[in-house]
Amino acid sequence: MDAGDRSAALGSLVVAVDGTSGSGKSSTCRAVADRLGLRYLDTGAMYRAVAWWMLQHDVDVHDPEAVAARADAPRLVSGTDPLAPTITLDDVDVSTEIRSDAVNAAVSPVSAVPAVRSRLVDLQRSIIDGGGIVVEGRDIGSVVWPDAGLKVYLTADPAARAARRAAEAGSSDVTATRESLLNRDRIDSSRAVAPLTMPDGAVHVDSTDLTLDEVVDLVVGLATAPADA
Ligand code: C5P
Repeated sequence: MDAGDRSAALGSLVVAVDGTSGSGKSSTCRAVADRLGLRYLDTGAMYRAVAWWMLQHDVDVHDPEAVAARADAPRLVSGTDPLAPTITLDDVDVSTEIRSDAVNAAVSPVSAVPAVRSRLVDLQRSIIDGGGIVVEGRDIGSVVWPDAGLKVYLTADPAARAARRAAEAGSSDVTATRESLLNRDRIDSSRAVAPLTMPDGAVHVDSTDLTLDEVVDLVVGLATAPADA
């Protein structure tokens, strides 16, 4: 493959990055998309926005029927610029609100509701269509886009994940952060529909002892390696 063919192939490439909470998916995916000139989609932000909407509208997030009944109501738009990703609900940017503790606690039960998943998966597929995108989530390589040209399963040990997340959030309570991450992992891995799992054909990357730059280099290398290498 010459350089021109390779850049055309990148233009239609879908990179699916799944993994546990706090394993570095967002930072990795944004940097990889930026380096390769691709779009970026944070599917976790979509589930978080729906959970935020449910909280704002007094829907009991632990009542799957109540959540399902309103699953189509939020008007959601995801921006795909890796340097400035946005998520709007009813035309209002909610990028900050969706990172709150209340949303951390609500998002896994909300995202386990099949009606929420089917609506968001349809939306995600319409954005991914055509390719040229790095997509992060829990079920991208297994359910949303099983034909992705590159699938990565990113993990790290819980202590490393909690320390990173707490630092990002400016929190000193690493124990509470660790409990919140592990609780989400537990619900995400055990739900009936599209549980978190390592997809067939994925490359497992454990980022515990790697810097962000090392993980990014590794994924960029996998994405740009000749297919027959
Ligand atoms: O990636 P992030 O930690 O922001 O995801 C928040 C939550 O959204 C996850 O804990 C999971 O419950 C849900 N999620 C999902 N499927 C995806 C992405 C996120 O169920 N593809």
